[in-house]
Amino acid sequence: MAALSSETALFQKYELGRLLGCGAFAKVYLARDVATGQEVAIKVIHKSRLRNDANLIANIKREISIMSKLRHPHTVRLYEVLATRNIIYIVLEYVKGGELFAMVAKGRLTEALCRKYFQQLVGVVSHCHSRGIYHRDLKPENLLLDEDENLKVSDFGLSAIRDQVHSDGLLHTLCGTPAYVAPEILAKRGYDGAKIDIWSCGVILFVLAAGYLPFNDPNLMNMYRKIYKGEFRCPKWMSPGLKRLLSRLLDTNPSTRITMEEIKLDPWFAKGYKNTKVRE
Ligand code: ADP
Ligand code: MG
Repeated sequence: MAALSSETALFQKYELGRLLGCGAFAKVYLARDVATGQEVAIKVIHKSRLRNDANLIANIKREISIMSKLRHPHTVRLYEVLATRNIIYIVLEYVKGGELFAMVAKGRLTEALCRKYFQQLVGVVSHCHSRGIYHRDLKPENLLLDEDENLKVSDFGLSAIRDQVHSDGLLHTLCGTPAYVAPEILAKRGYDGAKIDIWSCGVILFVLAAGYLPFNDPNLMNMYRKIYKGEFRCPKWMSPGLKRLLSRLLDTNPSTRITMEEIKLDPWFAKGYKNTKVRE
């Protein structure tokens, strides 16, 4: 992480533009690299939210350095990280197409289109898993679309920051929607990062295909109960192949839940799947 003596250096390099969005722990602004004219997104995190803990900041630096080496067509590129005494600035690829779920809000997608996005999601998530990086917070706000309507996953590898801001992972969940969270997290058992990402991919696939959440209830405790029991029903119009895959993704038992390798062999998934070549 490059150290900056002051904000001045950052603002000499980047011209800050409008606010793109607010997340759980950061604000994201559009910006322009003054030298090259390239548009970027800058994520601003106040260190006070990380309690100025040196160990923790070291951890974050490590994750960020892994992320900056990661080049996958379906992750949001991390260009550089700059830090002043009080603030961390994460300079990211600017993704123009907005959030994937804005499309779902207009109505459910065809199975062919669901398959395309799900294949891209599984491709990038399994690639990151093979590098030992888990997302652990896969949900609509972190799924963006580029200009060519391809998926870009944001916030990969940034889970260490999130964990510190919300030192209790569950508390964080209780603040936001638990709709994408695996049952083993609700049970406060130890969990495996790969397995919880796979569960969240299952919820995302369901929403893409059905147009609504698999586990939903106006009463939060009822929603937890449904997740915990894995109580969901696929709509009649879904193909049997998709229903079968969903039941394997949304298996409440993490040890029998489908793995990334098995997903890639699933007949519904595998149709037309091309493993994206990655240059690193
Ligand atoms: P947090 O991780 O704190 O929840 P996010 O990374 O999800 O914050 O960012 C909040 C919002 O900002 C997103 O929902 C999205 O709309 C927007 N955003 C984030 N990163 C980018 C990006 N690289 N390009 C364009 N918009 C972005
Ligand atoms: Mg996010």
